[in-house]
Amino acid sequence: MKAEIVSIGTELLFGEIDDTNATYISRHLTSAGIDVHLRHAVDDELDRIVQVLGAAMRRSDAVITCGGLGPTPDDLTRQAIAQVTNRALQTVPAAEQQLRDFFAKRHRKVSSNNLRQCQVPRGGQLLGNSVGTAPGLLIEHEDCTLIAVPGPPPEMRQMMTDHVMPYLRERLTQQQQSSLFTRTLRVADIGESDLAQQLEDILADQSDLALALYASPGEVRIRMHTKAPSQQEANKKLGDLENSVRQRLGEHIYGTDDETMEVAVGQVLVAASATLAVAESCTGGLVASRITDVPGSSRYFQGGYVTYSNELKQQLLGVPAQIIQQHGAVSEECAQAMAEGARQSSGADYALAVTGVAGPDGGTPQKPVGRVYIAVADEQETICQQFDWPGTRSQFKQRTSQMALNMLRKRVLGLV
Ligand code: ATP
Ligand code: MG
Repeated sequence: MKAEIVSIGTELLFGEIDDTNATYISRHLTSAGIDVHLRHAVDDELDRIVQVLGAAMRRSDAVITCGGLGPTPDDLTRQAIAQVTNRALQTVPAAEQQLRDFFAKRHRKVSSNNLRQCQVPRGGQLLGNSVGTAPGLLIEHEDCTLIAVPGPPPEMRQMMTDHVMPYLRERLTQQQQSSLFTRTLRVADIGESDLAQQLEDILADQSDLALALYASPGEVRIRMHTKAPSQQEANKKLGDLENSVRQRLGEHIYGTDDETMEVAVGQVLVAASATLAVAESCTGGLVASRITDVPGSSRYFQGGYVTYSNELKQQLLGVPAQIIQQHGAVSEECAQAMAEGARQSSGADYALAVTGVAGPDGGTPQKPVGRVYIAVADEQETICQQFDWPGTRSQFKQRTSQMALNMLRKRVLGLV
């Protein structure tokens, strides 16, 4: 728990009194394991108090003010808290009665200034003062505990012991008991640095919600995490952040949490009531293997052809010998012919084909190691994309299968 202390009073800034209250409060918070990381002194000027409080509340889990709670016109703390939390002041009837009794006993008249002390911003509570008349106040606002105690040292000390420390200790246990909740959004076709750029302001604005990017071959995970006492509260916080990320990235996000690309592909095919066949060269069956990792994939997956040799590409998929002679087996033309052939011989609605140079040998200046062509054929047309991947043979296969599945997903969704 991070805390800040704000001492309020022009006398402090004139150097007329020492800020012994802040020292006392610091010591007590620190000994309870609360991290006091900033202390401020501000004069009796409403705008400045509001400004200091606003900034402190955004930064910290707890803000303690002392001073300025009394009945005189220069006592502005209560008003500043109402303003910074944007809540109206309301009178607490029990406190008003207590104050009236206090004055009646001493045969003094209650003034309207005195009565102001019985007011609290909506949602807040008053803290009893057994030594003087000015009650303290406490309010939870946007994940920050804001507490105001009076300036006179005996009153401040009593209130710290009786109310503030017990409350903060309880809050601390709650905070420690809260767990870390995460949500991950998965993106396959935007690189880590491009994502960092697109999410720059969100990445820069990390509060109790944090967002981080983790890249692996073929995808970047956008991991959001927050601490909360329950899943429900975590969902509320994470949901807002998720929405703003989704607004930027749209359909580039293919899945959430443990949802893999093959699961996402299955979902779009089921939704479209469409079937699929694959024709693989350089991935050696990895694409088909991933598709069949998903339970229930028989609903949409018809099967795959692993056609590694040129002969098999011709025999099973009907790739014309002339295409292979003229353009080579690693070419846009061959990938398209493979996809169309697989679609025809299987009767599936969509066919996905990959052909490439996995390396480490077999590259040429025209077709370097890492080159791959991915084609998707459907009733309307056959689309094809070329990629050049860095990395090892197994990274190549992983990336290619990921990109092929993603291309299919986008095609079925009508995005490419
Ligand atoms: P009151 O009802 O007495 O007016 P208050 O909460 O308005 O209480 P202030 O008017 O700010 O408090 O201060 C009252 C007195 O308390 C000051 O004159 C000073 O003697 C003492 N005091 C205030 N702030 C501090 C401080 N930060 N450290 C030490 N003493 C302080
Ligand atoms: Mg005062």
